[in-house]
Amino acid sequence: MSQDPDCLFCKIIQGKIPSKKVYEDEEIFAFHDIHPAAPIHFLMIPKKHVPMLSDMTIVDQQLLGKMMLLAPKLALELGARPGGSGGFRVSVNTGVDGGQEVYHVHLHVMAGPRPWQR
Ligand code: 5GP
Ligand code: ZN
Repeated sequence: MSQDPDCLFCKIIQGKIPSKKVYEDEEIFAFHDIHPAAPIHFLMIPKKHVPMLSDMTIVDQQLLGKMMLLAPKLALELGARPGGSGGFRVSVNTGVDGGQEVYHVHLHVMAGPRPWQR
């Protein structure tokens, strides 16, 4: 699995930096955001190092689909309220204009009763 030794999230995948793990399989890792902006806020990342969503290609189609389908499952497991009166947000900040700070592609999954910080 291609990783970047200088990347914060690659170090988290490898356990070199501790995190509160939510989920792991052979190609995906999920963990709680260190500064939660909502009552439930976790990050989902591919294990392979890809800086931005816009760097992903057709090769990643299945992986991205898998992550998007896993997001609601994990959100509900962590306490997101089901149905239209509950719900959650999935966002992928991309690049400087997208507000991205860590350049290893990640899905933010946020849920829980409002108000949220963002
Ligand atoms: P971005 O702005 O790149 O979309 O989001 C990066 C997220 O990573 C932020 O929400 C930030 O709180 C989170 N984050 C940054 N460093 C760490 C860390 O060391 N551990 C964890 N669990 N989250 C982090
Ligand atoms: Zn990385």
